[in-house]
Amino acid sequence: MDIVVPKDFQHLYVRDEKRPVVKIPDGVLRQVAAPVEKITKRHVKLADNMVRIMKEAHGVGIAAPQVGVSERIIVIAPEKKPVILVNPEIKEKSGKIVGQEGCLSIPGLYGDVERFAKISVEAYDIKGKPVDYDMEGYAAVIVQHEIDHLDGILFIDKVDETTLEWRDPNPEDE
Ligand SMILES: [Zn+2]
Repeated sequence: MDIVVPKDFQHLYVRDEKRPVVKIPDGVLRQVAAPVEKITKRHVKLADNMVRIMKEAHGVGIAAPQVGVSERIIVIAPEKKPVILVNPEIKEKSGKIVGQEGCLSIPGLYGDVERFAKISVEAYDIKGKPVDYDMEGYAAVIVQHEIDHLDGILFIDKVDETTLEWRDPNPEDE
C-alpha cells in the first residue's frame, strides 16, 4: 500500500538529529536484514544506540534497519526495561490477537493488525548467550512487529486498511 503523508505530518518524516529514525520510503526498511555472525563492539554500540533512540522517540520497540543498519537485531520494551535480541526467531506461535499498532518509521499512522497471541522466541543476547522467551499479548505483538522489520515487512502490509488513522504520535512533545 502506498502511504500518502498528510501535510500536517510531513515534518515528522524529516530525518535529522532530533528525529534519527529511518522513515518510509527509505529502501533499508524493505531489505531482508543479514544475520549477525559474530557480536562485536560495533553491535554493542549499535544496540545502545537503538535503545536510546527508541526511548527518545517514546517507542516500545525498534529494529536495526530503523537506524539504517540492515542486521538482525531488535530491542523490545513492553515494560520499562529494554530487551535486546540478536538473530531472533519465532519457534512456536498460536492464537490470534488484534490490536492497534503504529511504527516509529511511519510516524502518525495507526491501524489494527492481527498477530499471533502467543509465541516462543529464540535469540542471543548482546553478549552472545542463547536466550528464549515465551511471550503473549503486548510483548508477543511487539516482537512480531520488530522481527517483521528484519524481513523488510511493515505493519502497513498487514493492517486492516479500514482502521487506518492519522494522529499526533507525541502530543505533549511539541
Ligand atoms: Zn515499526
